[in-house]
Amino acid sequence: MTSTYSTDIVIFGGGVAGLWLLNRLRKQGFHAILLEAHTLGGGQTIASQGIIHGGLKYALSGSFSATAEAIADMPARWRQCLQGEGDIDLRGCCLRSEHYYMWSEAGFRSRLKTFLGSKSLRGRVQAVDKSAYPEFFKRATVAGTLYQLPDFVIDTESLLAELVRKQEHHIYRIDAESLVFYRNGKGDIDHLTVSNGDDSLRIESRQFIFCAGEGNKGLVSRAGLLKPRSQVRPLHMVYVKKSGLPALYVHCIGDSFSLTPKLTITSHAAVDGSTVWYLGGELAETGVERNAAEQVTAATALVQELFPWLDLSDAQWGCFTINRAEAKLGNKFRPDHALYIEEANVLVAWPTKLTLTPSLADKLIEHLAAKSITPMAKDNTVELNKLLGQPKIATAVWN
Ligand SMILES: Cc1cc2nc3c(=O)[nH]c(=O)nc-3n(C[C@H](O)[C@H](O)[C@H](O)COP(=O)(O)OP(=O)(O)OC[C@H]3O[C@@H](n4cnc5c(N)ncnc54)[C@H](O)[C@@H]3O)c2cc1C
Repeated sequence: MTSTYSTDIVIFGGGVAGLWLLNRLRKQGFHAILLEAHTLGGGQTIASQGIIHGGLKYALSGSFSATAEAIADMPARWRQCLQGEGDIDLRGCCLRSEHYYMWSEAGFRSRLKTFLGSKSLRGRVQAVDKSAYPEFFKRATVAGTLYQLPDFVIDTESLLAELVRKQEHHIYRIDAESLVFYRNGKGDIDHLTVSNGDDSLRIESRQFIFCAGEGNKGLVSRAGLLKPRSQVRPLHMVYVKKSGLPALYVHCIGDSFSLTPKLTITSHAAVDGSTVWYLGGELAETGVERNAAEQVTAATALVQELFPWLDLSDAQWGCFTINRAEAKLGNKFRPDHALYIEEANVLVAWPTKLTLTPSLADKLIEHLAAKSITPMAKDNTVELNKLLGQPKIATAVWN
């Protein structure tokens, strides 16, 4: 049996981008639904380190680049939401850390780089007085300087739960393999069909928005679109778990002039109560060349080199690979803004960073307004929840 459902907007992909947009659109009165193929946030969002960047990392090059500009307003936008005063009420989302730090080795070049970065951020980066160092750095046996950045860290599991909470009746699980798009003479998608066992569903909509991260590529090809092009950047992330490990939130800046910190550490709680250090940065970028055993060996050596006073003798290590997905620009550069590409009545979107999600939603909503797309759909008689299941929220890999 085939049932038909009509709506204003169909969003594909329930990572942070799709869920954020669903919240914004429904708040504006749009009839919008979100279709998820796996688990909510189970792509990049749950794998992210949850750092809401203030742009310092990009300012390390010494110039106030477009990326640093675009990102500088984001911490304030997120904080408004976390206080229940922004675009979305995120009072239920937990902060993992109010502050993010940068640990700079004593070498001249790294100090210079830090100086340039802080100068271009107009004094928003403060060197921490030694007496105010977190306990872990008070015990340091090597010389270095600690800076406090305008960044903070959110808990992505509670972020996802909060974004889903108010919209759960508008979020559905689909079998992406059963998806067929039907285009009309103008090239627009007129409707799509998805099936669930013997039942199939026809969904009509005026606008389709792909926010499926790495899955955008498959959707673009299934819909027969030509323009939106994407790229992936693989990372080999590492985590280390040990009870009693202090919670640490820090970029470790090395002696090279690379824009990527040597090591980026965030701390998370495992279900058994122990602390997990989640390790990214240059280690994860260069680590794609290493197998799992080699990556854990490299991570162990790096952590010991940076923090020789730390005892990790009975720690449990793990690692996994994950792709960052973003728009492919017509040059060799990485995108530095939230981006979308339009073709027919489809918008294919990437936030580029978790931090830039509010900016992506702004851009998509501005686009709809510019195209005079306003809420129109009437209430449907088809109950989607009887035809499609509900996806679960992803959990962190160490849990
Ligand atoms: C290791 C790592 C660390 C990071 N750390 C940070 C950080 O600290 N700070 C920061 O600002 N950014 C960070 N990022 C970037 C950030 O995580 C991403 O930019 C952001 O999460 C992307 O969100 P998204 O919703 O576009 O994609 P995703 O989170 O990947 O979500 C895509 C969703 O679409 C679903 N999907 C896939 N195919 C289909 C389909 N055909 N139909 C329907 N649904 C589909 C997936 O199951 C998934 O739920 C990090 C990224 C990685 C990989």
